[in-house]
Amino acid sequence: MLARTHFVFGLLFGVIFLPLLKFGNLFDYFIYFIFIELGVLFPDLDHPKAKVHKKIFVSKIIPLIFSHRGIFHSIFPPIILSGGLFYFLKEFYALPFFVGYFSHLLGDALTIQGIAFFQPFSNFKIHGLLVTGSFTEKIIFYSIIVLILFRIYYLF
Ligand SMILES: [Zn+2]
Repeated sequence: MLARTHFVFGLLFGVIFLPLLKFGNLFDYFIYFIFIELGVLFPDLDHPKAKVHKKIFVSKIIPLIFSHRGIFHSIFPPIILSGGLFYFLKEFYALPFFVGYFSHLLGDALTIQGIAFFQPFSNFKIHGLLVTGSFTEKIIFYSIIVLILFRIYYLF
């Protein structure tokens, strides 16, 4: 799945789970979506060509140690990292990070390559039929944007 599709997929999950938290002001929404997108970005730190590496140079070490769609694409990092965020900050940061991260995993699970949610304990892969960068992905990308707009319309 392309980075931009992950981005909007995360936004969609973000607007779906929005009612779970209480927002005081506009800045709270901003922080919420920042943490959604941090969660969305995190799994692909294991990709040697991820754009993130151009901004945070130290992250370049991650693909040298972990394989792409390896442990970073399992259910354990979002649980551990969100648990840490919950402990040190609060659910306001933990929930969007988890939602964003999980949306990324679901997005990759729709592709032909798929992902193994329970690695390293199980290599059982869940995969769909989506070819990354295909015309179908383009349709999905725009459909997600429409769904986000619908969701926002019905939220307020
Ligand atoms: Zn990925």
